[in-house]
Amino acid sequence: MSAALGRADARRFAGRLLICLITTLMFDYLCTWLARANSGVALLWLPDALLLGLQMGDDARRRRYYVAVRIGAGFVAHVLYGDALTLSFVLAMGGGLQLGLAATWLDGRADSWRRLAEPAALRRLLIHGVILSPLIGGAAIAVMLLILIPDMHLRSALALWRNWALASATGVAIVTPLVLALRDAEWQERILGDGGRANIAIQAGAIAMIAAVLSQASYPLLFLPVPMMLLVATRTGLFGAALMISAAGALAGLFTVLGIGPLAAGGFSPLERALLVQAFVATAMAITIPIAIVAAARRRADHALLENSTRLARSEYLFRLLAEHSSDAVMRTGIDGRRRYISPSIFRIAGYTPAEMTAPDWVDPVHPDDLPAVRRSREILAMGENPPPNLFRYLHRDGAYLWFESRITLVRGPSGAPEEFISNIRDITAQKLAEDALASANASLLELSETDGLTGIANRRRFDAGLFAELHRAARAGTPTALLMLDADHFKAYNDRLGHQAGDECLRVLAQTIATPVRNPTDLVARYGGEEFAIILPDTSIVAAGMIAERLRLAVLARAIPHPDNPGGLVTVSIGVACHNRGNGTTPARLIEAADAALYAAKRAGRNRVAGAPPDHLALAAD
Ligand code: GH3
Ligand code: MG
Ligand code: MG
Repeated sequence: MSAALGRADARRFAGRLLICLITTLMFDYLCTWLARANSGVALLWLPDALLLGLQMGDDARRRRYYVAVRIGAGFVAHVLYGDALTLSFVLAMGGGLQLGLAATWLDGRADSWRRLAEPAALRRLLIHGVILSPLIGGAAIAVMLLILIPDMHLRSALALWRNWALASATGVAIVTPLVLALRDAEWQERILGDGGRANIAIQAGAIAMIAAVLSQASYPLLFLPVPMMLLVATRTGLFGAALMISAAGALAGLFTVLGIGPLAAGGFSPLERALLVQAFVATAMAITIPIAIVAAARRRADHALLENSTRLARSEYLFRLLAEHSSDAVMRTGIDGRRRYISPSIFRIAGYTPAEMTAPDWVDPVHPDDLPAVRRSREILAMGENPPPNLFRYLHRDGAYLWFESRITLVRGPSGAPEEFISNIRDITAQKLAEDALASANASLLELSETDGLTGIANRRRFDAGLFAELHRAARAGTPTALLMLDADHFKAYNDRLGHQAGDECLRVLAQTIATPVRNPTDLVARYGGEEFAIILPDTSIVAAGMIAERLRLAVLARAIPHPDNPGGLVTVSIGVACHNRGNGTTPARLIEAADAALYAAKRAGRNRVAGAPPDHLALAAD
């Protein structure tokens, strides 16, 4: 996989080198022709500048291949042109050295169009690419020629050096940025700038005007295109300026070599003509590049500003959307207690408008019972903490109290000091009502689960729990607890003669009859099972319990329920009484056992009577 990728990459690289080779060859030949047409003095030297731009951004390890291409292409171009082999070789080597130096110095610092937007990168391109590398390349050529060609004069070597350096510098200054710009993915956007077609028209106008001024020598009008150049720089930035200067340089060079225009006229020497063309290009750059940079920076700043304000407007819009369409109301309150903002949803929740509720004299109609909780929240906020969610009733405009839940968050300023708080207010009336209904349903279920279905008094389950709790309480308090066990006499016979339903009805009456006189709220009357009832009497002595039992027995007798098979003809009950006097040491089971034993004693003694627990059982109970 990676080997395949590597092969594809190598193929791409080879293709690129081939393009570089052909371009360099072409431009080398063309520039040599231009120079020779100007009596050997080069006006612009483009191949190095071109190759410098093309190799940028590629892997630094591949740089030597580009240098090799530069040397090979230069050599072939000069040989084709008819130069001597030694001269061709020296010129090619000088070009290679110059390219290698510039590429190394600019690598990673001024090697993309984007980087050139930074003044530091542009400075580096100027110092290392435009000035130093052509100077060194030219110097190397001059030295090599002096060494290799015996009849070479120092003066001509120096002239060649100067000529080479100036032409190369002009080439790098105008062509390298252009190549970088053209390689940039967004170059189209950049050439168009913000003005689109108008910018292309301005570009074309500027180039046409430069061409017109350069094509005639009747009037020295070289200053005429300056305003147009400034306009191009302002509107289209660095790219437009580079494009225009390239065109201007190429036109100036071509016209001058062909003997046309103000730079060719006036009997200047070839060297002077070359210098004039280069000075023309340098001046055009000096005028336009700084302005292009400033304009581009301003456009970027404008763009950033616009983007920022758009983002701000968008976030403001989102905030409003959330605040105004949320089912909760949002409120901002200053640390001084003044309400700063409340979202419109408060009207739907409470029936008052935000204007009403933010008025200075507004008093919140909180239910008086809930005021302490609301005040408590404010105290917690004043201490610099977030209070827990607050539940309170609030009077709706239509006169009904609603349940609100408010969650308050303290907001601190940059210094950390509390500045305001944000409240989230939610109508939870429906939820609260549902909760209340559920709670009361649960309560009645609990009640039901502890109530005897037939008689409506406490059932066995409640009795067990009640006795357990009471004995615990009594153990702590050191108080006595009495227990009565009550059983209907000969009740089987009642059922047998009068039927089960009459028996049930009789049990209901019995339950009522014994529950009524037991008035102490802590007492508990329960159906123990069948026709047996149990009565817990907290904090009651055996004597008092015996008196209560007697009262119950008489109350049943007083109801005068007919019972044909009972002596006396009425329903009667027998009651066993047990009590433990020490506040600890007994269990529900022992107390029940003692009361049961007393009940059976009452039965054995002839029924329709009260009996206390026999001493052994009492002793057991009190154990
Ligand atoms: P004793 O005086 O010795 O208590 O005689 P008894 O007949 O009451 O004795 P026993 O405990 O043997 O009989 C209890 C009877 O109570 C049995 C049953 O017919 C009746 N009974 C128990 N629970 C119910 C009830 O829920 N409804 C009705 N109708 N009768 C019940
Ligand atoms: Mg019984
Ligand atoms: Mg019975």
